[in-house]
Amino acid sequence: MNIMYKSTRGQADAVPSSQAILKGLAEDGGLYVPEQIPELDVTLAQLKDMSYQETAYEVMKLFLTDFTDEELKSCIRRAYDEKFDTQEIAPLREADGVWYLELFHGATIAFKDMALSILPHLLTTSAKKNKVENEIVILTATSGDTGKAALAGFADVPGTRIIVFYPKDGVSPIQEKQMVTQKGKNTYVAGIRGNFDDAQSGVKKMFGDRKLADEMNRAGFQFSSANSINIGRLVPQVVYYVYAYARLCAKGALQDGEMMNVVVPTGNFGNILAAYYAKQMGIPIAKLICASNDNKVLYDFFATGEYNRNRPFILTSSPSMDILVSSNLERLIYRIAGEDAAADRAMMQSLAADGRYEITAEMKECLADFAGGYASEEEVAAEIRRLYEKTGYVLDTHTAVASCVYRKYRQEQSDERVTVIASTASPYKFTRSVMNAIDEKYDGMSDFAMVDELSRISGTAVPRAIEEIRTAPVLHDAVVEKDGMKEFVKKILSI
Ligand SMILES: *Cc1c(COP(=O)(O)O)cnc(C)c1O
Repeated sequence: MNIMYKSTRGQADAVPSSQAILKGLAEDGGLYVPEQIPELDVTLAQLKDMSYQETAYEVMKLFLTDFTDEELKSCIRRAYDEKFDTQEIAPLREADGVWYLELFHGATIAFKDMALSILPHLLTTSAKKNKVENEIVILTATSGDTGKAALAGFADVPGTRIIVFYPKDGVSPIQEKQMVTQKGKNTYVAGIRGNFDDAQSGVKKMFGDRKLADEMNRAGFQFSSANSINIGRLVPQVVYYVYAYARLCAKGALQDGEMMNVVVPTGNFGNILAAYYAKQMGIPIAKLICASNDNKVLYDFFATGEYNRNRPFILTSSPSMDILVSSNLERLIYRIAGEDAAADRAMMQSLAADGRYEITAEMKECLADFAGGYASEEEVAAEIRRLYEKTGYVLDTHTAVASCVYRKYRQEQSDERVTVIASTASPYKFTRSVMNAIDEKYDGMSDFAMVDELSRISGTAVPRAIEEIRTAPVLHDAVVEKDGMKEFVKKILSI
């Protein structure tokens, strides 16, 4: 079956997957969605015996139908290799009656590595297939983790440059250090004076700027996106939900065919959307539990059917979820609107103009698979401490949001189903917040003294990604105003 990708706004041509990956965003400003979600064509018995890489092939071949078997297998082989510190790639760990799916064993110790270690290969393969001769400029807005994972993935990849914008005062010290020490002749990083939504809307504006696109094309450049709006990010994320289900069946934690719940700490809605796609593909998922921090736009949306970004932007200890405009939600909106592009367009216009929109009662009924919850800063810290004291297992702040939301959900709903929590970052990436949650006495320590203390109390080795930045020199120190992003890009490209 050949899967084409169409825009949620309905005013751009449908394209094969390689072109959707190259473009990132559709020309009408919409997001590409597959014309249908394919069903898995392997049995659970087969999946139970498969490695991560084999599972990735079985899932991705159904979505990326214009890639040859060899192309896809080569991309997978080059992505999921020794960059990961475990052969399982995404191991499951049980603690206090719930399964944590650890998605942080890649090069930059956050779940963004799961997709961004393969995206550069998918993109350069797509460029070759489509005879693109321009140099590809990856433009990325980051709330902290995408930036580093994209930099690591694209550093020194021939035919590409990567430019990352992050909120100067909105990321953790270790996240910032990871980005500003990035090596690679084709890497550029700037802090912006603004928050993540400012960075994301600045990037989206440049993508939609036809005049800029023309100037770039004349100079031999074209943009693409490493943000989760790119289906080349989304599709690889479906894999680990399929893998987790098969692993739990293989371990005997689930009976074949038994339903499981999935809890996802959510920001831009990419990760949980991938779980939703896994469910459409045939994985028995009961509830998709969407966990938010104090920026609880999504919680309110699931509760009321109104999406409203008109509220203060709160900086929390889970910065990768500090987002008020969750881009990927548009793909769900489009689907529950019965793939009605005009309805989608009207809501997105209302979001752009008034910062809000409301879905119909009929659409709301289609959200029965989802449950929303949120956790306050105090609750997140208490959850980290509680689980550590009970089991010795240390969560990062984002995973702790999900863990806390799940405990509240389970108590309120008396839902005792087997549950998987997407564990999206290593606690080492947010050492300061994590250690302060465990005991206030650590507060006066330096960042790296805390790292060593975390290693001691958790009995885990300090990840390579952290060792690397201990002494690494700062290579990027640009800071730009939020309306200076375009100038920064033009200067880099000398246009
Ligand atoms: C990006 C990120 C999230 C949010 O994921 P979305 O796909 O944007 O919803 C959660 N936790 C961590 C650690 C992240 O890096």
